[in-house]
Amino acid sequence: MSYSIIGRSVGESVTLKLNETAAILRAKGEPLIHLGGGEPKTRAPIDAITAASGLINSGEVRYTPADGVPALKKAIIRYTEDYYGRTVEPENVIASSGAKQAIMVALQAILDPQDEVIFPAPYWVSYPEMVKLCGATPVPVLSENGSFYPRLQDIEQNVTGYTKAIIINSPSNPTGAMFSEEFIAQMVELCESKGIWLIMDDIYHRLIFDGRKPFSVYKFTKKSVEESKIIVVNGVSKQYAMTGFRIGWAVGNRKLVEMMANIQSHQTSGPSAITQFAAVGAVNGIQSCVESLRQTLENNRTVMMQRLEAFNGVRAFKPDGTFYCFADFSNYNKNSSELAYFLLDKVRVITVPGVEFGLDGWLRLSTCGSMKDITEGVERIKWALDPDAPNELYIGERKLVRDWL
Ligand code: PMP
Repeated sequence: MSYSIIGRSVGESVTLKLNETAAILRAKGEPLIHLGGGEPKTRAPIDAITAASGLINSGEVRYTPADGVPALKKAIIRYTEDYYGRTVEPENVIASSGAKQAIMVALQAILDPQDEVIFPAPYWVSYPEMVKLCGATPVPVLSENGSFYPRLQDIEQNVTGYTKAIIINSPSNPTGAMFSEEFIAQMVELCESKGIWLIMDDIYHRLIFDGRKPFSVYKFTKKSVEESKIIVVNGVSKQYAMTGFRIGWAVGNRKLVEMMANIQSHQTSGPSAITQFAAVGAVNGIQSCVESLRQTLENNRTVMMQRLEAFNGVRAFKPDGTFYCFADFSNYNKNSSELAYFLLDKVRVITVPGVEFGLDGWLRLSTCGSMKDITEGVERIKWALDPDAPNELYIGERKLVRDWL
């Protein structure tokens, strides 16, 4: 049988697979705690629901332009003015089926085989696979000093004649690290001096803590959007808790956006009309839902950190934003996949192995769930690993006795 090189080289999305596993175990009545998820548990904003229902009720749900309906483009243009301080034209904007597709079609519009794409590690699981889907080469970069805040020199020393793009995700999935304005300015300067594309994956940019404020990449360039090779990606999934709606977008120069739209038009056509209208509702609607989600996540982050700091042998990185906590469990097992499966098997807690993000020995724990999920989840993990923890644990009515330490 002959399968393609690309087909054979791309792995499954481990995070989506974990969601499936969670759903199966829950359906069997297992007392699962899902600390693997990447989606807030709050309801979608009422403005989104109303707008989507309006279109459904009309009974006229049709194809849309491949790059999005005018109303959504208008909402994205306003969003770009509010958060990025730039006035862009509809031709600079494309709506896609999630930020994931926006990044994918952007990469397809700029990459040739042999090109290289640099991104800091630990990285979002999909970056390497998306680059491979274009036949190009992913270049993940771990900071030499082990920090989750990459430095200019870390990135710069990986730039070659083949480097076509740099992807920056801040705050970052999986670490929650929000990179400094100075670093982003350096990335803009580096990319502009070398003619490299800069993709800013800003999907978590409003979900930040400790008084931080989102800032715009355009602050650091004198170029207009039209002259620039900066691509800004954002969407409704995370900030509005609308993961299942599948709407994201990109802002970039006209030529790029036109190519992205052409590619998208043959791949999936425009995103679902229903969810485009839902996104219009969310982006134009009352914004207090975002602040309330942000506050909940900040609170959850604080509790998660307290619990992890009290965990012998575990070193957790304090996230500046997002809904993840990345923690070093290598004192218990250097093989993070083995450890994640062990925790699932023994105490029914789902975590994501760090190896999937390019750093083995670490686990990503999600803070999207309830406070009870966080406290009980960490307690179960502690019970499974820490020899100083009591020998017995109750999960509901079920008494577990530890016989492996
Ligand atoms: N970028 C990052 C860093 C993400 O974590 C995710 C979702 N996990 C996405 C992009 C994709 O988001 P969407 O649901 O809009 O496709």
